[in-house]
Amino acid sequence: MKTPKTFTIVTFGCQMNKSDSELMEISLLQEGFVKSTTYGDIIIFNTCSVRKHAEDRALAHIIEARNAYKNSIIVVAGCMAQRLSRELKSNYGVDLVVGPYHSPAIGSIIKNFIQHQSNGEYISQDVKDFVSRIHPSLATHKDDLPWHKWVTISHGCENYCAYCIVPYVRGKLISFPSQQIIDYCKLLIGNGITEITLLGQNVNQYGQDSGDIPFYTLLEKIAQLPGLYKLNFITSHPKDFNIEILHVINNNPVIARSIHLPLQSGSDTVLQAMNRQYTMKHYYTIIDAIHKLLPMASISTDLIVGFPGETQKDFEDTINAVRTIQFDEAFTYKYSPREGTKAFTLPDSVPDTAKQERLDMLIQTVREISQKRLMNHIHTTTDMIVERISKKSEDEVMGKTIYNHPIIIKGAKEDIGKKYTVTIVSLKGSTLYGERSA
Ligand code: SF4
Repeated sequence: MKTPKTFTIVTFGCQMNKSDSELMEISLLQEGFVKSTTYGDIIIFNTCSVRKHAEDRALAHIIEARNAYKNSIIVVAGCMAQRLSRELKSNYGVDLVVGPYHSPAIGSIIKNFIQHQSNGEYISQDVKDFVSRIHPSLATHKDDLPWHKWVTISHGCENYCAYCIVPYVRGKLISFPSQQIIDYCKLLIGNGITEITLLGQNVNQYGQDSGDIPFYTLLEKIAQLPGLYKLNFITSHPKDFNIEILHVINNNPVIARSIHLPLQSGSDTVLQAMNRQYTMKHYYTIIDAIHKLLPMASISTDLIVGFPGETQKDFEDTINAVRTIQFDEAFTYKYSPREGTKAFTLPDSVPDTAKQERLDMLIQTVREISQKRLMNHIHTTTDMIVERISKKSEDEVMGKTIYNHPIIIKGAKEDIGKKYTVTIVSLKGSTLYGERSA
């Protein structure tokens, strides 16, 4: 057999996985493997377990690749590797499973596998097995938007929300050292990056495991690095949200006025069953503080309908919360059981037809509110970064405001990546239209 040389990475799931795939690529290139756009010697699937549908989709690709490429090394990385390691090897002919703790070291793992035919299973989750995510070589890798970079500040989660698989597959919270993160951001800005998004399952818990600085201090230190146009962060957990963050945003114009604060349900009973560890009263305290300190800030959320035990009254509480809070945007989901989570042991009590009706009503309510919220921006002035030529006209460019709302202005290819101050003049559908200020 020839020595395997070429590799292909197929990525499923969230931004964390996309970042991990970049690290895997660096690791493989460093070990002398060659990247290929078609399936070749080594086929790696970086997988997601967050929903059953995501696993089924990845599994279909794995089966297809195994059948068609009998001589290739098939590798499964990411959350499915962690959750289904043995099954993937014994039932689907996968050669190597590499969990999230190990994926950035995949180059040496595959090399070792080829040379010694090692047992092909890397799923331990001891802190000493964790391979760092802050890698200077990443600073030269380009995101889809070449001036933007995702920066992972922590890994894992220990909150055990009842519906969520993440704590089981990603392991406990590990915050990366703040000085390393800041130095890495400086390196990015030196390489021409002007927009950064800080990423963690719950950024508000940053430093709680290591005794490092709190998240709001890290946010402020990065916001004050010269050369940055815009700084975003996701995701915030309401139970750990510190009001100091709002002061930091207020004092630093480069931080997006856009806060993603997953509510999940408007019913205290359901929140408790979900193990979210906050009440609606607490959530409203945060919303009031946002309205007071950052009155125009956009607030987005995640909502689940049909969680086990959710009654019509619980659902109405969610609708009422959405109407009271007036979210700019909401990502809405029907509950689906995930094996291995606490909620999986509960009866999936809401019939699918009721889940669908609730979801439809929720989507309709969110849509109406978000239109109204966008109208409030007409005749205001804001900063935007141009992202691309508009799909509808070559004379127009599309970007996002400092509130992260999509906006279109007159412009051309040369404007991409630039920051402009604009006055918003109209709203069509869910897109704002603006004019560049002189
Ligand atoms: S905070 Fe909850 S929903 Fe978010 S990753 Fe952790 S367990 Fe999952």
